[in-house]
Order: sequence, then C-alpha cells, then structure tokens
Amino acid sequence: MTLKKSVSVFGVTGSIGASTVDVLKSHADKYAVEAVTAHRNVDALAKAAIELDAKCAVIGDPAFFGALQDALAGKGIELAAGEDALIEAAERPSDVVIAAIVGAAGLKPTLAAIRRGARIGLANKETLVCAGALMTAEITKHGATLIPVDSEHSAIFQVLEDHEESRVDRILLTASGGPFRAWPLDDMRSVTRAQALAHPNWEMGAKISIDSATMMNKGLELIEAWHLFPVAEEQIEIVVHPQSVVHSMVEYSDGSVLAQLGTPDMRTPIAYALSWPDRIKVDTPRLDFATIGSLKFEKPDTDRFPALRLARQALQEGGTLPTVLNAANEVAVEAFLKDRIGFLDIAVTVEKVMTRLGSEALTSLDQVFETDAMVRRETMACLASA
Ligand code: NAD
Ligand code: MG
Repeated sequence: MTLKKSVSVFGVTGSIGASTVDVLKSHADKYAVEAVTAHRNVDALAKAAIELDAKCAVIGDPAFFGALQDALAGKGIELAAGEDALIEAAERPSDVVIAAIVGAAGLKPTLAAIRRGARIGLANKETLVCAGALMTAEITKHGATLIPVDSEHSAIFQVLEDHEESRVDRILLTASGGPFRAWPLDDMRSVTRAQALAHPNWEMGAKISIDSATMMNKGLELIEAWHLFPVAEEQIEIVVHPQSVVHSMVEYSDGSVLAQLGTPDMRTPIAYALSWPDRIKVDTPRLDFATIGSLKFEKPDTDRFPALRLARQALQEGGTLPTVLNAANEVAVEAFLKDRIGFLDIAVTVEKVMTRLGSEALTSLDQVFETDAMVRRETMACLASA
C-alpha cells in the first residue's frame, strides 16, 4: 500500500473547487483530504467535507459558523470560522494546497501554506498579480513549490519542464477572446450581466467570467506568467485562439514552438498540480482533431479590450501598480455584477484609479495589504462620484 498524499482545498465550493473535488473523489486511493474551506456557502462546504472525508472544514465568514455546525453535527469533522481560521487551516500539515479562493482574499492563507514549505496548486492568480515578487521570495525562502493550475500556465509549465529555460525566445499565451471577441465596440456598451457571464468555452466563477469578457483575465495572466517563468515582459505575447484547444505555447531559440493541447477542462491542470511530476487518469472528453478541422489564431484588439493595455502597463511600471490594477478591477467587476456600472466602465474605472494613484516601490507584504485596502476605498469613491 502506498502512502496517501494529503491535500487541502481552499475555495472548495467554487468552480475550481468543484473540479478539484471531482478529481480527488476519483482518486481516493491516492489522496486524503486535510482541510476544505469556503466563504459563505455552508451547504456546498458541508457536502464537500463529507464527500472528501475531510478532517477539517472552515467557513470564512463567521456569521455562517452556526449553520456549519448544524450541517456537520456528529460527523467528527473539526470546524472553524473566520479569516484567522483560514490561515490556521493553511498551516495544518498537508502535502498539497489547492489555492482556489477568488481574488486577493486568497493571499494570506496561501502565504501560510508557502511558509510551511507546502506544494501550492495555484488557481488564485490575483495573489501573484498583487504580490508576485514577495510571494516568489517567500517560496524560495521556505522551499515551497508552486505549480500553476491556470490552464495556460499549466501548459507552459509542462512544456518548459523538460527544456532549457535559457533557450526560450517567446511565451505565447493563448486567450479565447471571451464572449465579445468579435463584437463591435458600440454593441459592447450595452452588454448585460448575463451576456458577460456566458463564456463560450469554460464554465467558471462569476469574477473570472467577467474578467474573461473584458480580457482583464488575460492581462492578469500576463503578469502571472511573468512571475512564474524566466522571461522578460516583452517575451510574453498574447494570441487570441477562440477554440481554447491550444492552452499556450513556448517558442525556443531554434524556432521550435511547443504547445500543450486538450479539451477545455480544468480537471486536467488540477490533476497535474496534484500528481506532479507523475500523471493520473482524468476522464476528460478527448480531442477529435478531424472534427475540429482547423485551429484559429488572431491578434488581440487592445482598443476594444483596453484591460490588456492596462495590465501590460502595470507589469512594465511594476511596484504597487499591479496591486492597484487588481484591487480596482475586483471592485469594478463587483459593481458591474451588481448592475451599478456598465461593461465598458470596468476598464475605464481601473484606468482612472491607476492614473490617480500611480505606482510606488513594493517593499513588504504589509504594504500590499494596505495598498489593496486603500485602492478598494478609492475605487468605491471613484464609482460613487461618477
Ligand atoms: P468561484 O467564485 O467559483 O469560487 C471562489 C471560491 O472562493 C469559493 O469557494 C468561495 O467560497 C471562496 N471565496 C470567495 N471569497 C472568499 C473570501 N473573501 N474568503 C474566503 N473564501 C472566499 O471562483 P473560481 O472560478 O473557482 O475561481 C477561483 C480562482 O481560480 C480565481 O482566482 C480564478 O481566477 C482562478 N481560475 C479559475 C478558473 C476556472 O475555470 N474557474 C480557471 C483558471 C483560474
Ligand atoms: Mg486561464
């Protein structure tokens, strides 16, 4: 009998969380679950904790602790609530932590897991965007391992693994282009919440679905890629590929371009983060190339999708500007989801806040938390006065 690997899943009730539960359930002989967490969705958290036979379940919002206790009464699962409890859950011994909380809220628990040298399967890209250099320094210091779960970054990670990093000429980050890839700018002004949430290829949480529609998601992924891989900013090129079959590519100095392909199913990169350096079986639909026929590629349009330009600017200027971009975007997306602003106002708001606040040198994690909180206040004030 081989020893099981222990796994904790942060954000188990979300879209990535559900895919992770699916992979873990089909490999219960290989993985034992330590902790599962959620923000407010008690029923889904309780269900996941039972299905995975987790030792501990944590709800982020303490107002829901009573409901969690009721839902899991007599099950022998340790229960806790609140922000500090999320950090304590990350400190519990587990070989792998799947970081699938959405937004900067995932930073503190992920850091706690990094500081005990765990392997992190990182879906929560916002944490690398807002604190990338500091996070990678912590990873090196504590001997932690970061395996990307974002499909594009998992693809690049898989391609780079067996090849000399110094021979990389370009990283080609593919983007589906989202639901409005081919829409004229005039039509994009009146996009509704439902239209923006309907991604053509992927089923995801609300925030990343809106980010995909504005293409801010690809902007965040550009910054994520820069932190994960040893290339300069200008070596990362975004290519629109509407079918989401090629998950990203790497071009080497001899002209070879290597890619990772697959059906758009997050269980594949999640499984790889769990099983690396090995692979495990995942029941994904398989590619049928004859049916696909041809693969399409296009240049991104930064006029209709200014978020791409803003993210590149944030990466180029560095310092706290990516932190500002990320926090302003989180607030603007939330406002769009509550029907308070229009679709195109998301990027307009982010740009306004970036221009107003500018960039400072980034020196500490405390500064990240302070900047994040300050930007959220500024963005809300900016929206209130608009
Ligand atoms: P989701 O909204 O479906 O789920 C988010 C999870 O985080 C939920 O479990 C929720 O309870 C928890 N959460 C939310 N706010 C929290 C808070 N303040 N404190 C603690 N927990 C909180 O989101 P998702 O689509 O699963 O995405 C999760 C992360 O993975 C995001 O960073 C996203 O960019 C990234 N990602 C998602 C996909 C995808 O296919 N869904 C693909 C690539 C990367
Ligand atoms: Mg992605």
